[in-house]
Formats: sequence, C-alpha cells, structure tokens
Amino acid sequence: MTQTIAKSQIPASLQGAIHTQLFIDGKFVNAESGETMATLNPHDNSEIAQIAMAGHADIDKAIHAAQRAYPKWSRMSAMDRGRILLKLADLIEANAEQLAMLESLDTGHPIRDSRILDVPRTAVTYRYFGGMADKFQGDVVPVEAGFLNYVSREPLGVVGQVVPWNFPLMFTSWKMAPALAAGNCVVLKPAEITPLSSLRIAELMAEAGMPDGVVNILPGLGQVAGQYIAEHPEIAKIAFTGSTATGRRIVQASAGNLKKVQLELGGKGANIVFEDAFLPAAINGAAWAIFHNQGQACIAGARLVLHESIAEEFLEKFTALAKSIRLGNPLDPNTEMGPLTSQMHRDRVLSYVDIARQEGGEVLSGGKAPGGDLSAGCYVEPTIVRAKSTHDRIAQEEVFGPFVTVLTFKTDEEALAIANSTEYGLGAGLWTRNLQRAHLMAREIKSGMVWINCYKRVNPGSPFGGVGQSGYGREMGFDVMREYTQAKSVWVNIDAQIVPHYPRPAK
Ligand code: NAD
Repeated sequence: MTQTIAKSQIPASLQGAIHTQLFIDGKFVNAESGETMATLNPHDNSEIAQIAMAGHADIDKAIHAAQRAYPKWSRMSAMDRGRILLKLADLIEANAEQLAMLESLDTGHPIRDSRILDVPRTAVTYRYFGGMADKFQGDVVPVEAGFLNYVSREPLGVVGQVVPWNFPLMFTSWKMAPALAAGNCVVLKPAEITPLSSLRIAELMAEAGMPDGVVNILPGLGQVAGQYIAEHPEIAKIAFTGSTATGRRIVQASAGNLKKVQLELGGKGANIVFEDAFLPAAINGAAWAIFHNQGQACIAGARLVLHESIAEEFLEKFTALAKSIRLGNPLDPNTEMGPLTSQMHRDRVLSYVDIARQEGGEVLSGGKAPGGDLSAGCYVEPTIVRAKSTHDRIAQEEVFGPFVTVLTFKTDEEALAIANSTEYGLGAGLWTRNLQRAHLMAREIKSGMVWINCYKRVNPGSPFGGVGQSGYGREMGFDVMREYTQAKSVWVNIDAQIVPHYPRPAK
C-alpha cells in the first residue's frame, strides 16, 4: 500500500533555500536516472521536498569535474583558498537564521540549538580552516652534511566524503573545510534523509567564489552512491562518519585502489560521577550529554556511571530534570527536545526499551513515544534505564537516542573497568573535585576524548576521533590537515664535493 505524505508547511524564510537537485561542477542538475526520494519533516512526517538521488553515472560526472578542477585549485595560493573559506564563513553568518531553520526542519534539531550551536559552529569551522590554509606548512629535516631535505605536504586529489544525518550542517563543515584548505577537491554524499543544509552550503560556496567542480554535493542512497564512492578507483581518500557496521563496509570497499580511509564511527560514552562531584553541575552536564539533539550524537553520554553513595540523590534530581524537558515542534523557540530524525530510527530506539525490560533493567523515566500533538512525529520521551550489569545489551550497544543507561560503582577501579568495557572508545566524561583522580582516569580511559567536569566540548582546533570500534583518524586541528595531505620528501645535493659513492667516483 502506498502511503500519501502531506506536504510540509515550509516557513516563508526558506523560500529559495531548498534545493532538490545534485550539485555537480558548480550547477544544480537532476540525477541521470531521474530518481528522487522524499525528505521528511520529522515533526509530523510530512514531505518537505523530493530530492534527486545520485547514481553511479552522476558520481562519475562529479569525480571528472573534480579532477578537471584539481590542478588549478591545488596550485592556487593557500591564502587565496583560505580567503574563499573565510568568505563562506561570513556568508553562513549572514544567512544564519535561514540555515538554522533549514537544519531544524530537516533533522528535528530544536531551533534554539540550531541557532546557537549548529550554525555558529559551522561558520567557526570554515573560518578556522580558512585561516589554517596558509599556516599548515612543511619541514626542513637536518640530514647529512651537503644535503638539503625538505618535506612538503601535498593534497591527495579528489576525496570522497560520506556524512550521517545527525549533524548534517556541522559535519559537512568538519569534512569539507580541512580537505579544501589543504587543496583537495571534494565529492560529498550527505545522508539521504537530511540533504537540505549541505545543498544550501553548496550554493553559498559558489557565492563565496569557489571554482566550479571543486565541491560536488550528491545526495544518494548509502548502498548505491556511498558504496560507489568508497569503491571508486579515482577517489584518493574516503572520509566517513557513520555507524561502525557501515565503516567496516567502507574499509572493504576501499581496498581496490588502497585509498586512504578515515573513520568516525559509533560510541557508547561513559559519563562517570564520583562521590565528590559538584552535583548540580554533574546533573545538568549529564542531561546535556545524553539529551542534546535527542541523544543522536556519537559522543553522547549514553552510560551514566554513578558512585553508589550519591546514586539515589543524583537519580531523583536527574529524573525530575528529564521529565521537565519540553518536547515539541523543533521550529518553536521554546522547544528543548525535538523529534528523532526518522520514524525508522524512533522505532529502533524504542525497541531498546523492550530489550531493557527483557534484561531485567528498570525504566526510571520515559520509555515511550509521547501522544497527543506529537504522535504523528518521531518523538521519544527522555528515557532513563537502570541496567543490571555492564554486560547487558543496553550497556554495550549504541542506542543513539534519548536513552541513558545507569550503572553504579563502588571504587575507582570499578568505574574505570565499566568505562572501558565496551568495544567503543570515542568520548567519556568524569565529574570529580579530586585533581589527581581526574588526570589518572583521563590517562586510563580508552577513548579519543575525555571531558573533566564538562561534557561534549568540541572546537575546530582540538582533535576529534576515536579508538577501537569508534574508528581511526582525527578530525580538526593540525591532525586533520595531516589526514588530508601526504608528505613528499625532496632531497637536494647542495655541495658539489659530494658525489654518489657507487659504483666508484667518476673520473
Ligand atoms: P550509517 O552508517 O547508516 O550512515 C552514514 C552515512 O553512510 C549515510 O550517508 C549513509 O547513506 C551512508 N552509507 C550507508 N551505507 C553505506 C555503504 N554501504 N557505503 C557507503 N556509505 C554508506 O549511519 P547513520 O545511522 O546515518 O548515523 C549514525 C551513526 O553515525 C551512529 O553510529 C553514530 O555514532 C555515528 N556517528 C559517528 C560520529 C563520529 O564522529 N564518530 C559522528 C556522528 C555519528
């Protein structure tokens, strides 16, 4: 049975900002196949627009456009490349409200978050890497007398980038800004269910002066377009953010031409509260860690690990706070928590409530989809569940929703063992007033990022990425510039006295 999907009420401020075609070689074009897919408003599952879905022929076209643009772009002065990214940052700020609305409409992010986090962080990322372009430099190595050895950092060529739906605007900037600053050309595939903000960025890129072909944005299905980019022999590198299962497929697909791979995958962040923590801050921090963006964050504080002496007091206040969170239409400025981004994902998150019950877990709060006005959307109540053991599925598997698993501990050693007991290692938090304990735990936790008396801090200068099944490679800062370049070592004989020793000096 085909379901009719009502058209979304599109706010007037988005007139002209919704693009539905692929962006290839500086132009919006239809997919060769003519295929489209609806992008939905998760508030009520109404259709926003039909979006062109890229197939193999479109990706080939984009790669060839990028290859044509590459010689000029990679040889342009780094300062001029940076200038375009800096201009883009200004344009993002000039169009901030429109971009925030677009992101909230497509993803369900509360508009207040899109305004104060997603859009400003996106602008800051392009600005940071715009400034980085002419500051990332090579080296001169002090080698044997008579020789000069210099190492330049060269761009890779045409890079493929595949991003998920949880922070489409921000993650597109994390991927594209450093790649472009380093002199690469880009073929980027946004998630099929949230393509709108990246297509609008493509248009702003052109307005900022980006030459045609340098940036190509192709919405498409993961198994079709994403897989093809990962396999493509003319793509020099694939940078992927998404689930660990897809990450494994990307590694396999990349083997054909041994392309460079960078993976930002899943997580199951432990947020540990010790008995000496300043509780009001820890309670607020724990709510932010798991409920921001409806828990759809790889670094979410999905495991709340409490010292048993403070657990009851903490949970009483934390539960009251969770129950007071205002759920609602993401476009309403009073909304604190919006819907999940898709119905399928909502159902998956709710299935973990059943799993929790089967495992003997105790649902302390939430656990349902709200009714009334919100019943047509992808909403889930803020959910707090106490697990019986750290080995339970709800304490091991990524739920990726407003679902926090509570565990308790008696000793620091036990807290550390719990923190390190999953296959993931992306983000972790700890709350204590004991400095020595804080730094010792930070050293021992197997995780790419650790936050002490805070949670989920990110900055374009600070490396972001995971260990274990959370992936490899780092976004941000100088680390990511190394990910998007390769070293070339050049040797020069600068002393006429020195000649090759073999087979024997020439007469
Ligand atoms: P997903 O792996 O299903 O999809 C991510 C992207 O990959 C989408 O664009 C999708 O179309 C594409 N894709 C799907 N199959 C593909 C294939 N065979 N080949 C190439 N591309 C393919 O993940 P998701 O559900 O969209 O995102 C949620 C996941 O992303 C969570 O696991 C979350 O932890 C992770 N994530 C990680 C980070 C990080 O930085 N470590 C950040 C955000 C999200």
